[in-house]
Amino acid sequence: MTGYADPHRRASYDELSPETRAVHAGQYPEEHAGALSVPVHMSSTFERAVVLDGGWDYSRIANPTRAALEHCLAALEGGSGATATASGMAAITTTVLATCHAGSHVVVPDSIYGGTWDLFSSVLSRWGVRTAVVDMSDLGAVAAAIMPDTSLVWVETPSNPRLRITDVAAVADLAHEAGAVLAVDSTFASPYLQQPLALGADLVIHSTTKYLGGHSDVTGGVIVSGSEAMAELIDRTSGVIGGVAGPMDAWLVLRGTKSLPVRMRHVSAAAMRIAEMLTAHPAVARVHYPGLHSHPQHDLAKRQMTDFGGVVSFEVRGSREDAAAVCARTRLFTLAVSLGSVESLIQHPANMTHCTTGGTQAAVPETLVRLSIGLEDVDDLVADLDAALDQGATLAG
Ligand SMILES: *Cc1c(COP(=O)(O)O)cnc(C)c1O
Repeated sequence: MTGYADPHRRASYDELSPETRAVHAGQYPEEHAGALSVPVHMSSTFERAVVLDGGWDYSRIANPTRAALEHCLAALEGGSGATATASGMAAITTTVLATCHAGSHVVVPDSIYGGTWDLFSSVLSRWGVRTAVVDMSDLGAVAAAIMPDTSLVWVETPSNPRLRITDVAAVADLAHEAGAVLAVDSTFASPYLQQPLALGADLVIHSTTKYLGGHSDVTGGVIVSGSEAMAELIDRTSGVIGGVAGPMDAWLVLRGTKSLPVRMRHVSAAAMRIAEMLTAHPAVARVHYPGLHSHPQHDLAKRQMTDFGGVVSFEVRGSREDAAAVCARTRLFTLAVSLGSVESLIQHPANMTHCTTGGTQAAVPETLVRLSIGLEDVDDLVADLDAALDQGATLAG
């Protein structure tokens, strides 16, 4: 959906804080019999007064519940329009199909979500899309990888699972010099912690399955566009491809989004505490968290983000098996993929989310463990991790 002026109360959300936008943007009781919770419009088609009346038409193209979510997320990112999709991967696929063609050249980071890696390396490669894989923290390498015919530069920051930070403003300049589109997967930050469009990105992608949904009960994605023209291109492409969010899923994400600011503040504080505890732990070799002074891009993260988020990863001392064993020993941290929910999760990327990257440029350390911090009491979480790590040390010793 495009066009985000509030039809009932205000001209714009620009002057309102994210907390207020999260609760109200796109959600107008006046349009829904006074309902404070936007109704779930379970209808595939809509009656028209005449042949062309400008109203709702068909739910693949637009649906009132999905539109409310799209308005809300566009307002949170400061975008010109948003398109909600059936999953984060549907958002990524739609973005690539809208901005590339057979033979296109794309620059992707070497620290990247496993599914995105698979899409470029094993699906789009069959369609002739050429990819250059670079360390995005090295701006010289990014500049060298961008070709005169590069269509798209893909950024993921913070990256999954190594929490690398990419300088969005600097990479936007490099992409735009070559006439390429810059898309940023901002899933780990959520719209609350960073605003890639304000830094120069053309498109922002989220897996709404994660922080925006926030409750492990829905799969979804969104593409937010920085210009009207881009918003229209993405919306039209998504409507044709058809990987759109269903009304019930859109409603669940909309409900989760209302509490996003409160949850992001909580998990950022708790993750900082856990990153510090892990740094001091003898069974841990290295901690990856952008909030730590020891993070190589801490200053950039501080500049680009308002806080550092709820994902922490760390390398255990020992072997791949030792890392897998730590994941199996926690009692409160649930051994499961995904992130950004109320429940704290632990997983072993080399065996789970990033198993297909082994032996490639996007491979992750075998001893890496990834945590997603939830809303449980942080002292309980620290004690759980301590016990899982100490037990390992005792067994090994
Ligand atoms: C989970 C995730 C995706 C994919 O989203 P789905 O909703 O699982 O399709 C993309 N990027 C990042 C950074 C993710 O964490």
